[in-house]
Amino acid sequence: MTFVVTSKCLGVKDRSCVEVCPVDCFYDLRKPSLNKRFNINPKKLNWHDDIPILEEGEFDTSLDWGMLVINPDECINCGACVVECPVDAIFEDIEVPDTEKEFVEINAQITQYSDETLNKLRVLKKPESSS
Ligand code: SF4
Ligand code: SF4
Repeated sequence: MTFVVTSKCLGVKDRSCVEVCPVDCFYDLRKPSLNKRFNINPKKLNWHDDIPILEEGEFDTSLDWGMLVINPDECINCGACVVECPVDAIFEDIEVPDTEKEFVEINAQITQYSDETLNKLRVLKKPESSS
């Protein structure tokens, strides 16, 4: 069992889920092909600019491609992220809608990357603002 991010995250990617995850298991899957398949225009980057794009080719690095995914090897299945998502993109794997089933595999693909790449792709909580 794990939790899975689905296509609704594309073009939203606001990181609300990251802020509540106790094990920091969200990763930035910056794949332009996902935006193209789902007809989602990438937004201008507004919160990171050092995360690599994971596909070959010429892509505008000033744009925020792809979506966040959950690493199934790290998720502890607490469910805390589900209610935080403003677009209801996160499901338990056995409850992913039929039309979104491919995202179980798309999330799991994050485990194929090296530790070095994973460290670059991991999305961390925003630093506490100092008072
Ligand atoms: S279910 Fe819990 S551990 Fe898994 S991604 Fe969501 S918040 Fe993180
Ligand atoms: S809260 Fe939902 S839309 Fe926002 S980054 Fe997480 S999965 Fe994507």
